[in-house]
Amino acid sequence: GVGGSRHPSIPLPVDLFKAADGHRNSMGLDLSDRPTLERMVGVVNAPLRNQPGEGRGPASGDSQLDPGLRRGGEEVRDAVSRAHAAFPAWNATPVDARAACLERLADLLEEHRDELMAICVQEAKKSIPDAIGEVREAADFCRYYAVEARRRLQAVELPGPTGERNMLHVEGRGVWATVAPWNFPLAIFLGQTAAALVAGNTVVAKPAPQTPLIARRAVELAHEAGVPADALVLVTGGPEVGQALTEDVRVMGVAFTGSTATAKRIARTLVQDDDQEGPGRPIVPLIAETGGINAMIVDSTALPEQVVADVVTSAFRSAGQRCSALRLLLVQEDVADGLIEMLKGAMDTLTVGDPGDPATDVGPVIDRAAFDRLMNYREQVRDRWIKTVDAPTEGLFVPPTAIRLGSVEELNQEWFGPLLHIATWKAGELRETIARVNAKGYGLTMGLHSRIARAAEVAEAEAAVGNLYVNRSMIGAVVGSQPFGGEGLSGTGPKAGGPHYLYRFTAERAVSVDT
Ligand code: GLU
Repeated sequence: GVGGSRHPSIPLPVDLFKAADGHRNSMGLDLSDRPTLERMVGVVNAPLRNQPGEGRGPASGDSQLDPGLRRGGEEVRDAVSRAHAAFPAWNATPVDARAACLERLADLLEEHRDELMAICVQEAKKSIPDAIGEVREAADFCRYYAVEARRRLQAVELPGPTGERNMLHVEGRGVWATVAPWNFPLAIFLGQTAAALVAGNTVVAKPAPQTPLIARRAVELAHEAGVPADALVLVTGGPEVGQALTEDVRVMGVAFTGSTATAKRIARTLVQDDDQEGPGRPIVPLIAETGGINAMIVDSTALPEQVVADVVTSAFRSAGQRCSALRLLLVQEDVADGLIEMLKGAMDTLTVGDPGDPATDVGPVIDRAAFDRLMNYREQVRDRWIKTVDAPTEGLFVPPTAIRLGSVEELNQEWFGPLLHIATWKAGELRETIARVNAKGYGLTMGLHSRIARAAEVAEAEAAVGNLYVNRSMIGAVVGSQPFGGEGLSGTGPKAGGPHYLYRFTAERAVSVDT
């Protein structure tokens, strides 16, 4: 593994801070403890209960949709009808009671952690450390939004002249559609859904077609935690199901995480007035969180060992399948050769293999289509490889590969896998370099490694990104500490796991009464 250890190279137990505002982040799992590790390996690799005969080995190929989960347009309409009917009662439930449901759900997630991890490893091909992080982040979202809802979603009295009473009420908007990605099939699936629910909305939730089982389990636990069955309804399937869902005029908001192209398609669907008779479709909010061409800029003052460790983590952990992941490493020309040599050495320590093996640093990619796309591109740029790593040839393993670019402008697409592009920049051109990255139009994460305080100030002022990381890795945003989400082609905001997220899910109503 990275750092020469055969054990997962992750900073656990992640601690567990209790923020002054009462929010606490949930527990990690100490995998340096041998018996814990062995027990966990047994659990995540055991056949999933209640999922007979599906043969979904960790690296067995494309995920199979459980036929029992498939739904067509009719079922989507039925799901929206149920959520629509359930809205008034759920919206009238005090915010405190809705928040308590989320807290019970967080407890249930932790109680069922091992089972949820096993589904994440087997269905989403998550490594063991990533599966731990997944469950932890899902619980964190639930607890964080519960605390934030209690604090922020209360009615407030506002000033006015004598004899006038002004109240601002914060309520749900109606039915929300939440559309989730396969790369965080529990954390993002539940994060979006929990936020919509705690704000008083009912939800029709659609997981990615690759990861319906973890979503189904999450919804079962939410119901067990007290969310009424019709306040949260699951629909599964591919783009046609998403299309039917977002076309439904009773949907009053959409929270989506996935590709930029799909976000734009949803935005177009939401403004379409198909029914020429009625008043037309309401104008509803879309919260989109998409991808990025995320750069890390390294200058000659940076600590090389630190840079290399952070590059490896940011580019290759989760097989590069995070929207926050590093895609474009930009090294100051003067130090590039030395740094690239060190990086090659670090890449040699990466273990590519089955996700359920604790020695694995980089697992397979999600499905055959992703594998083919990444491998074809990798082959096309073979003459520009700086370094590639051995990987099993059976299965969907994309070997982590570093690719040299002539300029920042040569990379214009997000490659969602363990492929890192490297280019250089000239001393004195930090500002210009950031501008060239900004010009791509994305704006999710950016990294800077420098020991010059002024360089950090320049990056802070100039980087058009939602999340800027200085002298550290650029993945793994922590709920409540690093609110996550981008701008431009990377999304709409507001930021998940941040203090302003819940408001976008609400309707605000001002009532003024003269007495
Ligand atoms: N929040 C995750 C991180 O900071 C990325 C989320 C995503 O890939 O959608 O790494």
